[in-house]
Amino acid sequence: MLIVFLGAPGAGKGTQAKTLATKKNLMHLATGDLLRAEVTAASELGLTAKAFMDRGDLVPDDVMIGMIQARLLSTGSGGVLLDGFPRTIRQAKALDQALTTTGMEIHRSIYFEVSEEELVRRLAGRSTCPNCQRAYHDSFNPPQRLDICDDCDEKLIRREDDRPEAVRNRLKVYETQTIPVLDHYRHAGKLVEVDGEQSINAVQSDLTNAVE
Ligand SMILES: [Zn+2]
Repeated sequence: MLIVFLGAPGAGKGTQAKTLATKKNLMHLATGDLLRAEVTAASELGLTAKAFMDRGDLVPDDVMIGMIQARLLSTGSGGVLLDGFPRTIRQAKALDQALTTTGMEIHRSIYFEVSEEELVRRLAGRSTCPNCQRAYHDSFNPPQRLDICDDCDEKLIRREDDRPEAVRNRLKVYETQTIPVLDHYRHAGKLVEVDGEQSINAVQSDLTNAVE
């Protein structure tokens, strides 16, 4: 059984993936972790990937697919939860192709639906103290005084990437790439959409139903 998780950054995939993997005895294959592990292990694919990363380039799809394929083959018949891949329609099609050699098939592609407003609320609004490095968040963990560290009265700093406009731009790119991926799985009859704005437990219960 192969389950694919799809969703924007901040949609809560990572947290839910860990819980579902434990509950359903699936191997949680987070492609970011896989990539780091292969680079650290200096495997052939890892070294190829590192050469691209060192130049500041994206790791090509065929290298990522190669790593995923090798890992799927090594897991035998166990279930796998794939988290973080595919992100583009090209990757989705390449994954389908690669799966034919592993004898595995995608059982469900689960999309975490979260509104842009909620994603911006979750992703933007982070700040840190330049003095003690204490982290704050406007909605979840605000300082007592606006933009001032509770511990050392220092003015908090905000990363350019965490500004609402920058977050909105990242989400736009994500959305543009993802819509064709969702259509691809919808046409294959494999797409399940889960309301990612519910409580953690409600999302988990929807996920459990979706994979059964
Ligand atoms: Zn401080």
